[in-house]
Amino acid sequence: MYPGNVNEEVVSEPTRSYLYHLTPICNGPYTESLTSYTSRLSEAHGLTMAEFLKEVLSSVLGKPYLHAIVKHGGTRFLAYSGAQNGLARGAEQLVQELQYLTKVENLQQLTFLPYRELFSDRGLIRRFRSWCPRCYQEWMDTNVTVYDPLLWSVQNIDYCPIHHIELAQICPKCGRHLFHWERYSRPGYCTCGNWLGNSGAISDFTSETYQDRHNQNYTFGLLRSKNIGTVIELAQGKRLPRVSAQQIMSHLLTLTDGNMALLARRAGLSKSTVFGWTQGRRIPLQTFIHITERLHLELNKVLLCSPCLTAPNSNIASSSKVVVSTHRQYPSSQPQDAELLLQAELHSDPPNSLQSIAKTMGLDRKLLHTKFPTLTQQIRKRYRDYTYEQRETRFLMISREIRTCVQQLHEQGIYPSRRQVERILSRPAMLRESRLQTVWKDEITRLYSVDKIQIRKNCFSCKSK
Ligand SMILES: [Zn+2]
Ligand SMILES: [Zn+2]
Repeated sequence: MYPGNVNEEVVSEPTRSYLYHLTPICNGPYTESLTSYTSRLSEAHGLTMAEFLKEVLSSVLGKPYLHAIVKHGGTRFLAYSGAQNGLARGAEQLVQELQYLTKVENLQQLTFLPYRELFSDRGLIRRFRSWCPRCYQEWMDTNVTVYDPLLWSVQNIDYCPIHHIELAQICPKCGRHLFHWERYSRPGYCTCGNWLGNSGAISDFTSETYQDRHNQNYTFGLLRSKNIGTVIELAQGKRLPRVSAQQIMSHLLTLTDGNMALLARRAGLSKSTVFGWTQGRRIPLQTFIHITERLHLELNKVLLCSPCLTAPNSNIASSSKVVVSTHRQYPSSQPQDAELLLQAELHSDPPNSLQSIAKTMGLDRKLLHTKFPTLTQQIRKRYRDYTYEQRETRFLMISREIRTCVQQLHEQGIYPSRRQVERILSRPAMLRESRLQTVWKDEITRLYSVDKIQIRKNCFSCKSK
């Protein structure tokens, strides 16, 4: 789908620059991220990332705080390094600094900065690196530069749009999550030195059974990867006008002849949220994608403010009946429809709650229960089982992550206190749940009681001597 990236290597500088004039990889939806570019740049100079931060970004540019950060470990700074790919002020500064040092222009294309007036920074960039092992392996095998596309650093991007497999987030050798910059970071490698590419990498999640059960998530996830790829691609070159949330909203309002309430209803959002955007508040990227999908709009046309907004097969603009709210589709005067719909709900995947079904039908939940007791009981049970299963799966996954984090810290000689564990968890708030706290405490007890027994044994053998 996307052509292999052109092998970009250090080329001779057109004018004198402090650092090599290293060309970034601009490959449409698969354009490189700024953190990846910086890692490659440090590698080209034979420096580790820590040395690059200390020697180049700190000293040359007179930023003593970076020097102090690196000197004292810099873990906290590195933990939030993903923000350099987003819209933060730090990203803007880094772009300017690197452009000055390398004499390479348009480095902002490696971030979301071209959309600074449209998208909000909240929930945009993931804290840890993610990667497609097969992309890495293919690039390595075909001798092209290994790098991290910007797409992989976006939150909630779970699948590679080329290989249709789930992105990896943990090094299979050391079990660590990786920050975008590490003291020894290098695209394609873990800090433990392990190569992260794998031609046969197919995770458990792509197995047939998993896909059968989560088919919707999978299809939706792939679509989202493609759409966000389009957003990244459009920021390349000069085709994209500098659009603001206000401009986009006034453009979208043409779909409903300026009716904000109708637009909000169609997009499945509250009127106040839409109003906020018309007043200049920025839109979260994921919500923006969700709106275009829900209204069947072509993403590039929305971003380019094209006069013809809708997709070829969509009748959303012309028909006022194609409304997200389905309240009028199943009026309470048609109980036979309600029964048929309830029967159909017994086969929906994933199952819906009785409350949401009643809301969609425009009927009262209690009334449905009185009229169709057996059907509603079956629906409730199905939904209860489903949510239980979801909860348990989530619990198992997070428990595994907590145990890995505790073990990792223990091996590094750091006591796995709650603060330390939260620092490296993918979502720090997870340890607020009492059930997960128990997992953390149990793991500590398990690890440290072994140590105590070992200490006691050692003491005993000392005394006996
Ligand atoms: Zn891939
Ligand atoms: Zn590793």
